[in-house]
Amino acid sequence: MDKIRLATVWLAGCSGCHMSFLDLDEWLFDLAQQVDVVYSPVGSDLKIYPAKVDVCLVEGAVANEDNLELIYTVRRNTKILISFGDCAVTANVPGMRNMLGGADAVLKRAYLELADTGQQLPHAPGIVPELLDRVLPVHQVVPVDIYMPGCPPSADRINAVLESLLKGELPHMVGRDLIKFG
Ligand code: SF4
Repeated sequence: MDKIRLATVWLAGCSGCHMSFLDLDEWLFDLAQQVDVVYSPVGSDLKIYPAKVDVCLVEGAVANEDNLELIYTVRRNTKILISFGDCAVTANVPGMRNMLGGADAVLKRAYLELADTGQQLPHAPGIVPELLDRVLPVHQVVPVDIYMPGCPPSADRINAVLESLLKGELPHMVGRDLIKFG
């Protein structure tokens, strides 16, 4: 039987969800027998999201042009897209900047008003990704198949969801153990 092609993606998040993934500890060895990790900030150094991905865990909200481009590619090339963690599901912490207004207000506050010296806006076309005016949860940009909240989701929750998928079943996301936020 072909192995499941698994990817994980890191958008605007703190990487805490990926750290929780690593908390799967020895179960990662079992997982490695059953999946090919084809793209991940922790599992490979590939720069281009590949085609024909079976399952992708997406950490973080969509906050800049790079995130936007990547999430469209992920959706196009992935069968089951999982919104992985509260930032992906609700925009959570990165979404707090939405209260300040658009991207210009945020950049002005951070780089001009609060800077002690060398006030200047970051601007390097092609190098510094442009901020979107609003930080968006993943499902407001592309359709999502499974929502896995948590900040971060516990290793047990990640395990339960992946175990179901490995058996060829969709996880039944109900109850405190699987859908409690925070
Ligand atoms: Fe970090 Fe929590 Fe966001 Fe995950 S959900 S990226 S742990 S802030």
